[in-house]
Amino acid sequence: MSKELVSVSGSGFDFTERVFCPSCGSRSAHSLWSGRFSDPQVAAHLAEFHYSADVRAELGDQAFDLVACAACGLAYHRLIPAESALAQLYGRWIDAAQVARFETAHTLKRADPHFQGVQRLKTLMRLRHLTQGQREADAPLRLMDFGCGDGEMLAAAQVLGIEAIGIDISATRADAARGAGAVVLPDLSAFEAHGGGKVHAVVLSQVLEHVSEPLGLLRALARHLVPGGVLFVAVPDCSGLSVPRDFAAFHQLQPLEHLNAFTPRTLRETVMRAGFTPLRRPMASLDTQPFGVLRALASLIYQPATTDQFFRLA
Ligand SMILES: [Zn+2]
Repeated sequence: MSKELVSVSGSGFDFTERVFCPSCGSRSAHSLWSGRFSDPQVAAHLAEFHYSADVRAELGDQAFDLVACAACGLAYHRLIPAESALAQLYGRWIDAAQVARFETAHTLKRADPHFQGVQRLKTLMRLRHLTQGQREADAPLRLMDFGCGDGEMLAAAQVLGIEAIGIDISATRADAARGAGAVVLPDLSAFEAHGGGKVHAVVLSQVLEHVSEPLGLLRALARHLVPGGVLFVAVPDCSGLSVPRDFAAFHQLQPLEHLNAFTPRTLRETVMRAGFTPLRRPMASLDTQPFGVLRALASLIYQPATTDQFFRLA
């Protein structure tokens, strides 16, 4: 029987199984949360993503299974959309209209634009500091933002005189970033065709949880970094989550988009497997109040484990 015949809707939204842990490669894992996309609670939560497709019809009663690796502890979805389905998900289900509907419904992005802007500038200032030894005197920082979305980090980089290139598979979101004057390419092969070369730093923010082969992506990015180059990774912190009890937890673990559920430890260990060593966060301060400067100084001593981490390529 061909794939078209077994597919529920004929749309070809196929799933594939990850037999090995995507971080350590172990075959041994136990289930944390499993079910079907047709389960009423799951279907209700998925409807809140406002995808630009008839999700119920295309997913049918497809099963999902969040598991924990017995060897390294990483939580990951064993059943994930196949490559062709991921292309549909990010090309057709998720478009500018869906992003706008989702953000209007959940107001995640509009929560505090000033705070988020300051955080982006501080991340870039830290990357500039950490790559001092990798750059010729006064040479500008050359940076790649992999998964740049609509280009907010690229715009912040421009403000600081950083030479930044964005990579994003989503055509509609890349168009928005280009509209703001940024160079955005669809993937790493396009980056190479565009002149490529090595960058001093890579930003990988809210990407690693979405990809089927996180270690493969990290190794590919390492090949585009100068020796001693710096990587900033940020993912949702899924510490303590297994069966989601509400929409916020469902969002963190949702089986279509968030294929890997990292904690500070499993994130650090996964990135280290690709040849990176963890770095302490350098101080960065953008404040008009003395207290903010004191808080930045205190953070030099007290750095709680988070899923926003800096690494250096060995
Ligand atoms: Zn593992």
